[in-house]
Amino acid sequence: MKIDRIEAIPLAIPYRRPFGFASGRVTAADHVLVRITTDDGLVGHGEAPPRPYTYGETAASIIAAVSDLFAPVLVGADPFARERIRADLDRTVANNAAKGAVDVALWDLVGQACGQPVHVLLGHAADDVRAAHMIGLGTPKEMVADAVEMRDEHGVDAFKIKVGRELGVDMAAVRALRAELGDGVELYADANRGWDADTAIVASRRLHEFGVSMLEEPNPAADVLGRRRIVTASPIPVVGDESTITLGGVARSLLDGDSEAISVKVARTGFTDSAKIVGLCEGLGVTTVVGNQIDGMLGTVASVALGCGLRALARHPVEVTNYLLMTDDVLAEPPVIADGRLAARQEPGLGVTIDPDKLAHYRVD
Ligand SMILES: [Mg+2]
Repeated sequence: MKIDRIEAIPLAIPYRRPFGFASGRVTAADHVLVRITTDDGLVGHGEAPPRPYTYGETAASIIAAVSDLFAPVLVGADPFARERIRADLDRTVANNAAKGAVDVALWDLVGQACGQPVHVLLGHAADDVRAAHMIGLGTPKEMVADAVEMRDEHGVDAFKIKVGRELGVDMAAVRALRAELGDGVELYADANRGWDADTAIVASRRLHEFGVSMLEEPNPAADVLGRRRIVTASPIPVVGDESTITLGGVARSLLDGDSEAISVKVARTGFTDSAKIVGLCEGLGVTTVVGNQIDGMLGTVASVALGCGLRALARHPVEVTNYLLMTDDVLAEPPVIADGRLAARQEPGLGVTIDPDKLAHYRVD
């Protein structure tokens, strides 16, 4: 089996409402669908969500990276040779979403060729995962309404709260969420580098008082001594996310004391490098959680496959609800969250079918 063709297709799908966080705001899914076709007719898919304010990638840069840099090394390659392909792609630095989508599409192909779902190939730790919902910035009332909708309609009982604004505003939202949701619900926080070290240290203590279990990216990790002061002073673990986006970067962050737990995302490190990061962390006794790059339905299916594939990830809630922000998507069968859980697909590969009419409607090339 050889790769015959690779396409990068830009999409534009409106959101039901904007999603805000300390480092940016999104109003529509301008994702890139990566489609790899083999000479025996298999088609693998991956989804690249651009986050220019976090990683510098745009839809246009993802398309250029896939078409101009990756296609020449991928066409003619064996999709099973993921290590060789990874080495070739890594001759280009950064471009994580573009590389992640290619890797997801390769695993989709490998699964289809083997007749096995991706989560089974990864290790089949679980058949489903507990869903965590990411609550975007808003007024306390808006944030509570978002959480209540997810709890009442989908049974979700784990929430990541976006913070990183003026401390009083954030703590009012956290207080309101805890009061509404009660003590049985898991809450953790993500500041997306919005605070300085002194603010983050005060915040970590107050979050601990509200029973918030972890604090992600409290300040810029490049503020080296500030980050280490937070890690030392915080009563709750500091999670590396956008500062820990490569295997080596995770190792350096943990050894330097810049983070104590790690968020992995298929949108950033695909399955191949995500599994390596999880293995590194497992050996060190460091918690890993599956994060969300405001993935669409395809990225959500891939995130569930990753979470169900690896034991260390299946133990924690997986951030898989944010595709519900989108008014629609290109998958023929949307994911279904029931009783707060999402099940891995049982079909070979990712088990997804792209709806041709929806693709024609939402593609913008
Ligand atoms: Mg984050």
